[in-house]
Amino acid sequence: MREWQSGRFDRQRIGRVYHRFTPAHAAESLHAIDLSELWQRGKRLLMLDVDNTLVQWHAHECSDAVVEWAREAKRIGFDICIISNTNQLERLAKIAGSIGAETVRGRFKPSRSMYRLALVKFKRKPEEAIMVGDQLMTDVLGANRTGIEAIWVRRLEGKEFKGTSINRMMERMLTGAIYQALVTPVDETPSSPDEEREKPVAQKTIVHQIIKFAIVGGTSFCLDYAITYVLMNVIPGGHGLMSQRLGSGLIRHFPGLFNWAKGPAEAAAPILGWVAAFIAMTNAFFWNRHWTFEVRGKEERAAQMRRYYFIAIMGQLINVGIFSALFNIIGNHSLAIPKIAGAAVGAVWNFLGQRFYAFRSRG
Ligand SMILES: [Mg+2]
Repeated sequence: MREWQSGRFDRQRIGRVYHRFTPAHAAESLHAIDLSELWQRGKRLLMLDVDNTLVQWHAHECSDAVVEWAREAKRIGFDICIISNTNQLERLAKIAGSIGAETVRGRFKPSRSMYRLALVKFKRKPEEAIMVGDQLMTDVLGANRTGIEAIWVRRLEGKEFKGTSINRMMERMLTGAIYQALVTPVDETPSSPDEEREKPVAQKTIVHQIIKFAIVGGTSFCLDYAITYVLMNVIPGGHGLMSQRLGSGLIRHFPGLFNWAKGPAEAAAPILGWVAAFIAMTNAFFWNRHWTFEVRGKEERAAQMRRYYFIAIMGQLINVGIFSALFNIIGNHSLAIPKIAGAAVGAVWNFLGQRFYAFRSRG
C-alpha cells in the first residue's frame, strides 16, 4: 500500500469508474473522525465495520480508547450499528456490547443488504447514516452503492483474514487513482497571510516552492542539454549524423534563411535546440504542477498547460532577448554576465508566471 493519506475526497477530480470506490473521507483512525461535524451535517447513525476497524482481526475486545470513542459518539447522540457478517456470533455480541452497539447480519459486503437492514432498524434515510470501515472493496463500495457516505479508516495493525488479501490487492490498484481526488491541506486551507508571516523562513510555502522550482529548473537544464547532445551528436541519419543531414537539407532548400550558418551542424542547432527545450519544458510542467505547486487531479490540466507554455516560451524569449541586448552593450568581453542575467530574469519570470498565472489556484 502506498503511504496512507487522510483528508476529504472530491470525486469530481477523477473518472466516473472510480466514484463508487471513493470514500468521502479518509481518516488515520476512529479518533481522527470529527464526530460533531458529522452530527451538524445531519448524520445520526454510525455504521461500523469490525475487523481491523474496531478491533484487530480475531480480537475479542475493543481497546479502552475505542470504547471511549464510542461513548463520546453516543453522548453526541449517534446510534451505532455494527455491519458485519462474521460467523463468530459470541465474539460479535461481546464487541457490540462493549460499545453499546446494535448489530445486523446479512449478505457479504459490498452487498447492500446489511446497510439497508440497519437503515430500517433505526428508521433512517441513507443521507442520515455514515459508514466507517477499513476496506474500499467492501465497506466503502457497499456504502456508496446504498447512497451512504463512507469514511475509510486506516486499517489497524495486525494480521488479516486470508481472503482479504485479494481485496487489498485491488485496493492497491485503486488507491493511485483515488488519491488523485484527495483534497490536500494545501488546496483546502491556504495559510492566511498572517500565519504565513509568522512561520520561520524555512517553513514558508513560497520558500519550499522556490527550492523545488530551482531543483526542477536544474534538472530540466540537464535534460535539455542531454537531449540536445543526443540529437546533435548521437542519432545517425544517412551516412553520417541525423543533425548533419537535417542541416544540409535546410541549407539546400532554404539558402536565404540559413546563409548565416557556417555548416550543416550550425544550421540544425537552433531547430534541434528548440525540440530539446520543448521536451524539457514539458517535463518541467508535470514536475512543477504536481510537486512544486502541488496541483492535484486532472481538472483544468489542459488550460494550465496552455498558460504554462505561454509563460515558458515568453520566458525563453526574455532570456534570449536580455542575453542579446547585454551582449551587444558589453561587447564580446564577457559571455557569462549576459548569459547569467538572461537566465536569472527568465527564471524569476517563469516562477512568478507559473505561481500566479499558469497554476493559480481556483478561488
Ligand atoms: Mg474490516
